[in-house]
Amino acid sequence: LQASSPVLALVKDGRRVREAVAGTEIELVASQTPFYGAAGGQVGDRGVVEGASGRMAVTDSLKLPGDLIVHVGKVEEGVLRAGDTVTLVVDEALRADTALNHTATHILHAVLRQVLGDHVKQAGSMVAPERLRFDFTHFTAVTPTELREIERLVNDEIRRNRDLQVHVMGLEEALKTGAMALFEEKYGDTVRLVEIPGFSRELCGGTHTHRTGDIGVFQI
Ligand SMILES: [Zn+2]
Repeated sequence: LQASSPVLALVKDGRRVREAVAGTEIELVASQTPFYGAAGGQVGDRGVVEGASGRMAVTDSLKLPGDLIVHVGKVEEGVLRAGDTVTLVVDEALRADTALNHTATHILHAVLRQVLGDHVKQAGSMVAPERLRFDFTHFTAVTPTELREIERLVNDEIRRNRDLQVHVMGLEEALKTGAMALFEEKYGDTVRLVEIPGFSRELCGGTHTHRTGDIGVFQI
């Protein structure tokens, strides 16, 4: 979760600038980065970008078309210049908390289909370090009894502590495994399949825990 890379571009108020001094809000693009740019409901990483002459606090990361990751934040010390070699460091604790919530989202999705029916479809989600939100389609409001059952089944799966597996494969091949994919999402020819063996398969580019037990406990 750390990389060294030259700064390709600095942007201030929508304009490219050569340098940015302490106190300036900027967007920074580097040729390589370990930061996850907000995508698929998962929020962007936070962290720091440190150069020989200055330091930036990254409060958000965005993913733009063409897999371009933009680091958003403020220069806190010194000066950053385009062309500087910088070290990009992701806040590991926040990334780890986000991964717990992301894996919980996959478990919740599978449990919702078990409890409410196969017609349940993911309509959106928000995965952050502190919490997750999962939007889905269903015919009526979920009852308190169903909510308790859903929470119980998610926690059952957490206690099974299964190993997650990530496979990279062709889209057609992945869909043949019965993996859940979002209808509106545009997928490339090669996709990433995140599997909780025997329980859930989803096409997903997000960050996850190694085992379901890492989540600890799930509460609605
Ligand atoms: Zn996912």
